[in-house]
Amino acid sequence: MAVERTLSIIKPDATRRNLTGKINAKFEEAGLRIIAQKRIQLTKAQAGEFYKVHAERPFYDELCEFMASEPVVVQVLEGEGAIAKNREVMGATNPADAAEGTIRAEFAESVGENSVHGSDAPETAAEEIAYYFSGLELVG
Ligand code: UDP
Repeated sequence: MAVERTLSIIKPDATRRNLTGKINAKFEEAGLRIIAQKRIQLTKAQAGEFYKVHAERPFYDELCEFMASEPVVVQVLEGEGAIAKNREVMGATNPADAAEGTIRAEFAESVGENSVHGSDAPETAAEEIAYYFSGLELVG
């Protein structure tokens, strides 16, 4: 399997509850390397641009408000099959459906406030990494 990079976000519900370290432990235990990481405060407009694929969905406005409500930790994870592996470690979008041991099963508060974001495909991973990081910030 190829070594990939994927964009991860530790969302406001998790940073608020001081869960960054516990979530990072899950990534590292799964063999994902954190090759870039920073804590930032998104504006609602920046969150809206990032989630523009969901612009027509009923939850879009609430999602953008939430993502801008407190700081987030954006990070790049690297490893073999990192995109799918990260989705596995995250668990299903709705924590009620997330498999035992996943980040969302253990930490998410609701379908909206679900602790983490992870890219879903190689093209989106490349776009999302470029949205938050310059090449010089990726230290593999
Ligand atoms: N979301 C929501 N309500 C929904 C579905 C999604 O608030 O009914 C939010 C949730 O925070 C989710 C994000 O929108 O993580 C993006 O949705 P997507 O379907 O892409 O899920 P993900 O890839 O994050 O599992």
